[in-house]
Amino acid sequence: MVRENLENVEKRILNACQRVGRHPEDVTLVCVSKTKPAEMIQDAYGYGKREFGENKAQELREKYDVLPKDIIWHFIGHLQTNKVKYVVGRAGLIHSVDSCRLAQAIEAESVKKGVVSHILVEVNVAQEASKFGLRTEETLELVKQAAALPHLRIDGLMTIAPFVENPEQNRPVFQQLRELSVDIDSKNIDNVSMGILSMGMTNDYEIAIEEGATHVRVGTGIFGERNYHIEQSEGCRRI
Ligand SMILES: *Cc1c(COP(=O)(O)O)cnc(C)c1O
Repeated sequence: MVRENLENVEKRILNACQRVGRHPEDVTLVCVSKTKPAEMIQDAYGYGKREFGENKAQELREKYDVLPKDIIWHFIGHLQTNKVKYVVGRAGLIHSVDSCRLAQAIEAESVKKGVVSHILVEVNVAQEASKFGLRTEETLELVKQAAALPHLRIDGLMTIAPFVENPEQNRPVFQQLRELSVDIDSKNIDNVSMGILSMGMTNDYEIAIEEGATHVRVGTGIFGERNYHIEQSEGCRRI
């Protein structure tokens, strides 16, 4: 199943690139493997995939420890400061930095481990109350604050678009993230690149690519539906 799904997603990425005259090499497919077993990741790895996305710190740590070391892990979930220790030194890119406090915690852990951490700033473009991320107008300030931390590299911006029936509805969201990134880039802040735009999921990644996404995060479209019941019962047991 994973193989057919990957082929299908890659074909759609190629077609979306062709529609707007972009090079497919400029779009990275992040295979979102959260809740899925290591064997499924190994399967995708066997088909050449090297970039995987996880949204839970401990799950990232567990998978990191058992899977090949040339995998680039993307941390895409909400990150609590007390979990930063599991992610720094393991994730190649942290997509979800949305506060100065979190940026400082990543800086401190990076110092401790002697690494430089690459991050994206998460923007809640659509201003959904249920989602994390900064408001558009707060973003520049956080970028500036994080840029002053010597063990962080700000590589760009990330957004999670609303769940919509018709993915076309998210086109303005992707356009706004791109405009914000161009705007921040024009300020030429030291230590800041706006090279990465992480936007688009299974439902809307083709539209995101048309609007400039460099990283699309696709889970269900590759690994199938997730079963959250298992996760929930484990959570209950811990209490
Ligand atoms: C789960 C998740 C995805 C993947 O979602 P799908 O709809 O399964 O493709 C992408 N980004 C983030 C931040 C996620 O949490």
